[in-house]
Amino acid sequence: MPASSYLAVALCALAFMLALAFRRHRAAQLLAAGTLAVGALSLPADGGLLAARATEAATMFLPGCWLLALLLPEPPLRSRRMLGFVLVLGLAAALTAVAPAHVWDALQRVLPLGGVARPWREALALSLLAVMIAAGQWLYRRRPLDAFIASALLLAAGGWLQLAGLDLRSWLLAGAAVLGAGVVYSSWRLAFLDALTGLPNRRALDETLARLSGDYAVAMVDVDHFKQFNDKHGHDAGDRVLAAVARSLAQTRTAQAFRFGGEEFCLLFRRPEQAKAACEDARLAIEALRVSLPARPAAAKNGKTARKATRAAPAVQVTASLGLAQRSAARRTPAEVLKAADQCLYKAKDKGRNQVVASA
Ligand code: GH3
Ligand code: MG
Ligand code: MG
Repeated sequence: MPASSYLAVALCALAFMLALAFRRHRAAQLLAAGTLAVGALSLPADGGLLAARATEAATMFLPGCWLLALLLPEPPLRSRRMLGFVLVLGLAAALTAVAPAHVWDALQRVLPLGGVARPWREALALSLLAVMIAAGQWLYRRRPLDAFIASALLLAAGGWLQLAGLDLRSWLLAGAAVLGAGVVYSSWRLAFLDALTGLPNRRALDETLARLSGDYAVAMVDVDHFKQFNDKHGHDAGDRVLAAVARSLAQTRTAQAFRFGGEEFCLLFRRPEQAKAACEDARLAIEALRVSLPARPAAAKNGKTARKATRAAPAVQVTASLGLAQRSAARRTPAEVLKAADQCLYKAKDKGRNQVVASA
């Protein structure tokens, strides 16, 4: 086998292992099927039945395996569904490698893609169907990995048309590379972005601060009486408010917003001289927010009937307190600046909340 073939299989296998390691099991299923196909297509011409039938097998089995992975719910690693998928892949590989000629011919006649004059057309159609399903899943769930899956499958589908003069294996490789990048990207998001608000998280803040040199200022932002808010309106309503506060803070032009944790956020200013005014603007913007809550079922009248009535969705309002501290000769490390900002935040709470307190 030429070195390029080893490289091709290694690239697919690497993408597959990344998907497994980051628990992106659907991506792992798609990549497992693709890696097997790339492996078979990379065999030298004298590589036996598997090599001779590689293109036929990929055309016959691959799009079906992709559709199976896309249409079934994403399985846990140790589950019957995952075992079933692995058995399907194993059966396809075994049939390709050892089925006697008459069985292989019969398979080609019986399977949906067999017995047609141009099986690659059916493979292309099924691959495009898989692309549409993945794109639909992305539109529905808005998970970036689904967009990468749709793009990867579209690239792979190019293989049946031999687009740009490249063979099926090259297009499958391109798809595997895109899917591998998607797995890394979605895992980066998990590590550094907060799932509820989409803001960079505490880890991102710590890393950003550790790399900063020169002057900067940090504002700790804490939603006022948020426990009471949750108790009164429920945790879902609280989540909505946190997302709205995050959107508002993200619009602070001179600062980068982070979710510090819970109902606490952080604004990082690279130009400290603009920070105080920007904090006041951010406070006013949060105060001006009106967040509409999901309608809740009204209490049944007279306590008798369980008639389904809904109360008009109320719009709620919150305030926040901010503590601002700047890096200085007395506070050089990020931990010291954050601590000073936190102390200012406590002062803002003590003074009655909904205000900005800056360090001297
Ligand atoms: P203070 O004005 O002194 O800040 O009072 P507080 O009630 O806001 O502060 P406290 O620390 O007592 O309560 C914070 C509350 O924030 C408690 C917790 O239930 C709520 N909280 C933290 N994270 C989340 C979240 O992700 N979603 C929701 N809905 N609530 C959260
Ligand atoms: Mg708090
Ligand atoms: Mg609070």
